[in-house]
Amino acid sequence: MQEDKVRAKKHLGQHFLRDLNIAKKIATSLTGHGGYSQVLEIGPGMGVLTQFLIQEKKYHIKAIDIDKESIDYLHKHFAVPQDDILYGDFLKIDVPSLFEGKFAVIGNFPYNISSQIFFTILEHRDIIPESVGMIQKEVAERIAAKHGNKTYGILSVLLQAFYDIEYLFTVHEHVFQPAPKVKSAVIRLTRNSRTFMPCREEDFFKTVKAGFNNRRKTLRNALKTLNLADVSMDHPIFDKRAEQLSVEDFVQLTCLIFGKQ
Ligand code: SAH
Repeated sequence: MQEDKVRAKKHLGQHFLRDLNIAKKIATSLTGHGGYSQVLEIGPGMGVLTQFLIQEKKYHIKAIDIDKESIDYLHKHFAVPQDDILYGDFLKIDVPSLFEGKFAVIGNFPYNISSQIFFTILEHRDIIPESVGMIQKEVAERIAAKHGNKTYGILSVLLQAFYDIEYLFTVHEHVFQPAPKVKSAVIRLTRNSRTFMPCREEDFFKTVKAGFNNRRKTLRNALKTLNLADVSMDHPIFDKRAEQLSVEDFVQLTCLIFGKQ
């Protein structure tokens, strides 16, 4: 098997995990929350996680990779239906058409697109009740950060509005081939109970983004980019900075500015 190993391609964010214990730990971090029986793996590479997911036997697994060489390798070495190993770009596929019903998303994600992967998960939160992903440690910390913290930002608020985030464990560079320049971490997203927002979601997203684009300014100043000339900013919440606001505060702020839906 040695001679046909896939050679890592940097531009595709390929860092192959070599430590089987860690691979198993990631694969078994799916809890089944939300009652799904299907799992999508993003970026299986040579299948180090895939093998443990298949072993679990609980789930119908599909995997998508953008690298043809990885896909050919998996087709050759894994005894799963060929149609379940998809050649393509996760950011370009029609996510709901992958499965019928709910599914979890897992992967040692390509770090260059990890934020976009999470935004896609967020968009499809009604069919994705859980996700476990290995990403850059710094991004994992940002996503899991609570308000009052310097690393708390747009991705933290938007994801935490709909998912509970757990920082599961840190992974060191030397367990990858080739070693990445940064440390990694595994996080788990579990869909929370929020199904309704008193304000429009679009306005919530706009408010969070504008607030953090000028994170050192008070919200009164930071939100000027939204052209809110006719909105009263007397409320003391406008004296605060974005990083001081919890998810609930942001919901309240959005309602104050744009009204309820
Ligand atoms: N899971 C493997 C590989 C991780 S490296 C392991 O842990 O060893 C990240 C993988 O994501 C690579 O196989 C790369 O080809 C794939 N990838 C990169 N961009 C992608 C995209 N847009 N859609 C799907 N897969 C992608």
